[in-house]
Amino acid sequence: MSKCPSCGHERIKTETRCLECGVFYPTIAELIAEEEAFEAAHSLRGRWKKILESPDRKQALLTELKLVWTTLSNTARFTLFVIFVFVFALIITVL
Ligand SMILES: [Zn+2]
Repeated sequence: MSKCPSCGHERIKTETRCLECGVFYPTIAELIAEEEAFEAAHSLRGRWKKILESPDRKQALLTELKLVWTTLSNTARFTLFVIFVFVFALIITVL
């Protein structure tokens, strides 16, 4: 990272904070922690862990599903819909 994460001003390697806006540059440890947090929030395992650790698992699961649904494209939504309808039709014919 050669630019200030806050204002975008050119970063000076020897400085620990931005000369322009005064914000402290993130350290390597902070960047790694940030990366791990991002990974935990966006990977399937991280999501699953979050649901399991939540006090209200059902609510957490619903929130995650809603999040997944909003990030899906229309084509993906349609595909899922078709799959659900197909499975539903199969179940109905078997019963
Ligand atoms: Zn700055």
